[in-house]
Amino acid sequence: MIDSNVAKTLSFDPHRNGSVALERLGVPTLSLSAEPLSKSTKSDKNSKSVPGGHKSQGFPAECFMILIGTMNLTRTRETGQFYCPTCRCAQEYRLRSRRPFLTLYFIPVVPIGAAEWFVDCRGCRDKWDPTVLQMDQREHEQVQAEQFQREALRSAVLVVLADDQISGTEVNVLRQIAQQLLGRMVDREELGELCSIAQQNKIRAANYVMTVSRRWSEAQKSEALQAMFLAATAEGKMDGAQLQVMTQMRDILELTEQEYQSAIEAALQRELVE
Ligand SMILES: [Zn+2]
Repeated sequence: MIDSNVAKTLSFDPHRNGSVALERLGVPTLSLSAEPLSKSTKSDKNSKSVPGGHKSQGFPAECFMILIGTMNLTRTRETGQFYCPTCRCAQEYRLRSRRPFLTLYFIPVVPIGAAEWFVDCRGCRDKWDPTVLQMDQREHEQVQAEQFQREALRSAVLVVLADDQISGTEVNVLRQIAQQLLGRMVDREELGELCSIAQQNKIRAANYVMTVSRRWSEAQKSEALQAMFLAATAEGKMDGAQLQVMTQMRDILELTEQEYQSAIEAALQRELVE
C-alpha cells in the first residue's frame, strides 16, 4: 500500500553515499549531473530504459535528472482474531507494519526509517497499538464476565416476573442473588429500577435467555440457571408460569438432563445469606 509519494527531482551522484545500496538492490545507477565531464564514461548506460518506464534518451549525459521520493510501504505480517474494544466482540485483525522507503522512479528501494507496527480491525477498520493483542484475552474475559452478571440477574428478574407479580420475599431473594452474581450489595431502588424496565420491555424470560445465552460458557449457563431457579423458588414453591419457564430453560440453554440436574442440585446447596 502506498500512503504517500512525494517525488522530488534531485541531482544524484552515484559515487557518493547511498549509491552502493541502490546498486546492490539492482537499481541502475546512472551518470548524473554531479559528475564532472571527465567521468562521463558511463554515458552508454543512459540509453537503457529505467524502472518506471522512463527512458533517459533525450537527457544530456552530463545533466541527468533522477526522480527520488519517499513512500510508506505497508505490509500484513500476521492475521488472526482479537477482541476489538470498538466492536466489543471478537473480530478478524491484520497485524501490519508501515515503513518509510526512499523511492527511485516511484519504486521503493531503501528503507529510511524504522517500521511502525499496528493492528487493523477488519470489522470497524480502527487501528490499534499491537499491545491490544496481549490485552485482548484479559480484557475480553472481564467485559464478558460483567456482561454475563447483568444478563443472569435480569434473567432471574424475568423469571420472577413470569407471573406478572413480585412479592417482598422475591425482592429479598433477588437482592441476594444480585449480591452473589455481582459481588456487591444491590439496594431496593436499583433492583426496583431493573424490575420496572424488565416489566415495561415485556420481553419474556425464555426469549431473553434464548438470545443472551449464546455468549455464555457452560459454567455461566449453569450459574444463570441456578440464579433463575433460586428466584423461581423464592416463595418456597414454583407456580405455573415460573415452573413452565424453568422447564423450558433446559432446551433453551441446550443442557443435557445431567447438566440440568447438576445445576438444580448446586442451587439447592447454595445458601442465600441475608
Ligand atoms: Zn473493530
